[in-house]
Amino acid sequence: MAKPTDDNKAPAKTPPQPKTPAQPEAVLTRRGAQRVRGLHPWIYRSDVQSVRAAGGDLVRVKGPRGREVGYALYSDASQIALRRFAGRGPRPGREVWRDRLEAAIAYRHSLQIDADAYRLVHAEADGLPALIVDRYADCLVVQLLTQGVDRGSDEIVELLVELLEPTGILARNDRRVRELEGLERRIDVLYGEVPSRVRIRDGAAHLEVDLRSGQKTGLFLDQRENRAAARDYAHGRLLDCFSYHGAFALQLAARCDEVIALDISEDAVAAIQRNAAINEVALEARCVNAFDHLRELSDRGETFDTIVLDPPAFAKNKAALKGALGGYKEINLRALKLLRPGGHLVTSSCSYHVGDTAFLGVIEAAAADVGAELVLVERRGQSRDHPVRIGMPESRYLKCMILRKRA
Ligand code: SAH
Repeated sequence: MAKPTDDNKAPAKTPPQPKTPAQPEAVLTRRGAQRVRGLHPWIYRSDVQSVRAAGGDLVRVKGPRGREVGYALYSDASQIALRRFAGRGPRPGREVWRDRLEAAIAYRHSLQIDADAYRLVHAEADGLPALIVDRYADCLVVQLLTQGVDRGSDEIVELLVELLEPTGILARNDRRVRELEGLERRIDVLYGEVPSRVRIRDGAAHLEVDLRSGQKTGLFLDQRENRAAARDYAHGRLLDCFSYHGAFALQLAARCDEVIALDISEDAVAAIQRNAAINEVALEARCVNAFDHLRELSDRGETFDTIVLDPPAFAKNKAALKGALGGYKEINLRALKLLRPGGHLVTSSCSYHVGDTAFLGVIEAAAADVGAELVLVERRGQSRDHPVRIGMPESRYLKCMILRKRA
């Protein structure tokens, strides 16, 4: 392969005049050109010198002296102006979208997932910028999070129908990030029929999902493998805090003598109860604030053998980091107090801004405060159907640690 020319040193050349009508194009600044030599697929507006394109266009990207960089999807609103899509060469068309979707699907098949709800396309990590596709039994839920994929919506739906033959496709385009793209937040059926409740299977557990109103695209699919891993250690009395629809509780229940699930939302508690009934699992779902309830349980002298902590992201941005670390410490400390010797704590953080090391630091500080001796049994991330793209730290956000308290 030819060595890429260095834009700083290459002699200035006049770019050849196009014979056909001008293709959409973006020219990077010198710093932008340097940055694209790294692996990160985003190019910020401040690194773009000029653009001749409409929002959503697939643009040809060039260095400041005309060196071809490749192709990217352009947004005329977001600070992330360009999302790299392909390297130098012919302009990628429908067949490239098809190939990438096919590869993403084939990868999930290769994982031999024992569930019919999982992520099929994880955006940039599958070479499909800002596109999410989740499977829920026979239905698909998509998120089209930038102008580029929003524009390609019809084609993406056509390809998904061709490749997967779903009975329905729902767009959960209600994510706030769409506002940064100047796009409307809305929920639409894009194909076929999408029932109000879909029943999915995750290992031995069955869950009912409301794809239109559930969090994320319906369920927290990124924890699927962590729930399966946690099952191996679960025993005795289980406390599942921040339970949402009871996914951890249901997955671990077969190994436990008693199951208590907590959530602050009434709707979530009703869903836990429905799912418990479907699975014929006896559990107690409590509608409480986990922070307060952990303290109350401790005051009452209660103890548990297995505790799951899976709170919402406490640090939604960098500024919230300090408070978030305090929140994580608080719940982990409370849980460690309640944990019996020989018991397991399954503790997660889905805040991208809280790194692996910082999260372990919080657990260590909590353990020190309560004088708990802990062993790190497993250090985990998001399930493999949510792959991490090397060079794009944003694609790794979930941390899940499984710890044992020394007997
Ligand atoms: N463990 C779940 C996902 C949890 S999502 C799974 O595996 O599917 C986080 C949940 O925490 C949400 O359902 C939310 O309602 C709940 N929550 C948020 N703040 C809470 C609080 N202070 N106390 C209890 N639950 C809370």
